[in-house]
Amino acid sequence: MSNAAWKNSELDAALTERLAPGPERGGVILDDGSVVEFINLADDPENLAVFDVGQLIPYEHRVVASWHTHPDASATLTTEDWETFRGWPAWLHAIVGTDGVRWYAVKGRAVVNA
Ligand SMILES: [Zn+2]
Repeated sequence: MSNAAWKNSELDAALTERLAPGPERGGVILDDGSVVEFINLADDPENLAVFDVGQLIPYEHRVVASWHTHPDASATLTTEDWETFRGWPAWLHAIVGTDGVRWYAVKGRAVVNA
């Protein structure tokens, strides 16, 4: 999975461009490496990204990863991220932080660096 063709430095650059002050941004990555952004529905969007799974429907069979930004923080996994990622074990998960893009994978009950 970590050697998948869609996961490359161009994608990391495209994700880094989404990092901006303000609300957390996020969405999914498709099997051709394209980045889809969803509307963040969190009550506290400065600190959390919450998405309506209905936004996934058009892309259902093409999603290979999730992504979201940490506008004022590093790409370190939060407790919320850990819980969310474990709900989507087949995907990789990218966090875009002030220190760059970090990739995570779900292995059994754990979330590990990918
Ligand atoms: Zn996060």
